[in-house]
Amino acid sequence: MTADPHRDLTQGDAVVAVDVQNDFCPGGALEVPEGDRVVDTLNTWMAAARDAGAHVYASRDWHPRDHISFQPQGGPWPVHCVQDTTGAAFHPYLRLPEDTIVVTKGTRFDKDQYSAFDETGFAEELKRHGIERLWIGGLAEDVCVRATALDAAKHGFTVHVLTEATRAISAESREKTEAELKDAGVLVL
Ligand SMILES: [Zn+2]
Repeated sequence: MTADPHRDLTQGDAVVAVDVQNDFCPGGALEVPEGDRVVDTLNTWMAAARDAGAHVYASRDWHPRDHISFQPQGGPWPVHCVQDTTGAAFHPYLRLPEDTIVVTKGTRFDKDQYSAFDETGFAEELKRHGIERLWIGGLAEDVCVRATALDAAKHGFTVHVLTEATRAISAESREKTEAELKDAGVLVL
């Protein structure tokens, strides 16, 4: 099934752009192959969301210096998305509508947070606005998009992952991730 934002989005839906930040795009500290290719598609979805009366959320990875997820601290990842750096900024071509709500994660000193729902209060925020259906894209498909979509399904939302609007770190883990998402009831479009 191919998704069409102008046909599919309805009032009360939410488009969720996960971590479309410079460090996850080509040239960044933790680049996802073709990561910048998600920008145009997400721009189309976010513009359509405005027309449809749907909400837009953008999550960002936002680490303190010397975060435990960084390799020098014994974590799995190169240093990335350090608070207030250019690497942590949203991609310059990402056109976030003015009323976009930003979900900040990765700020904790004691753990990493891949999911936009991980102790952020995001589920409560969505429910408070009566939102039931999510359309998710962003980076990376096999890490933070995966974790966000799985948590969203657990919280009872109808979850769509837009494959055109996401890219994975590797093709192999993309396949594995999409199978896992489908098993969890996520609609992979
Ligand atoms: Zn991170």
